[in-house]
Amino acid sequence: MDIKDHIRTIPDFPKPGIQFYDISTLLAHPDAWRVAMGRLAKIVGRHQPDILAGIESRGFLVAAPLALQLGCGFVMVRKKGKLPGPTVPHEYALEYGTDTIEIQEDAVKPGEQVVILDDLLATGGTMNASIALFRKLGAEVVGAACIIELSFLNGRARLDVPFHALVAYDS
Ligand code: AMP
Repeated sequence: MDIKDHIRTIPDFPKPGIQFYDISTLLAHPDAWRVAMGRLAKIVGRHQPDILAGIESRGFLVAAPLALQLGCGFVMVRKKGKLPGPTVPHEYALEYGTDTIEIQEDAVKPGEQVVILDDLLATGGTMNASIALFRKLGAEVVGAACIIELSFLNGRARLDVPFHALVAYDS
């Protein structure tokens, strides 16, 4: 099965000039979604993670079912102010300005092995920041994975952990 057949592209969203890769059509197709999650489970399982982390919000859709399947804990990486209780923040640069992501202070224990998941890797800025966040708590980030990689943006060059994607677009 070609997973790309189930990914829809929407031009000029959320702003003019951006081609949005929409996984709604993949999620809505149970066979294609099962195949996609099966392929990712094989790749991610090789890292023998304790914890799978999902980046808000579509990363949750990827990481939560995989965590159940692989018998791992699931942790949410969220935008600032969304998680209750004590949190650890990490600020990172955007094209214009900065953004902050957080995890709960007790989300991982030092030495635990984490794989971080999202739907798509573009510039790699969000994934890179998420890796830094888990390291602040002493966790070992053993890998990162997405369904889609925009390879022409070379985001994987910003990551110092093994990175995997099910499909890549080179333009
Ligand atoms: P980046 O930090 O540049 O790697 O951006 C990755 C994050 O932004 C992921 O959480 C994606 O869901 C989202 N994103 C960036 N570009 C796109 C795109 N063209 N289509 C869909 N989602 C995108």
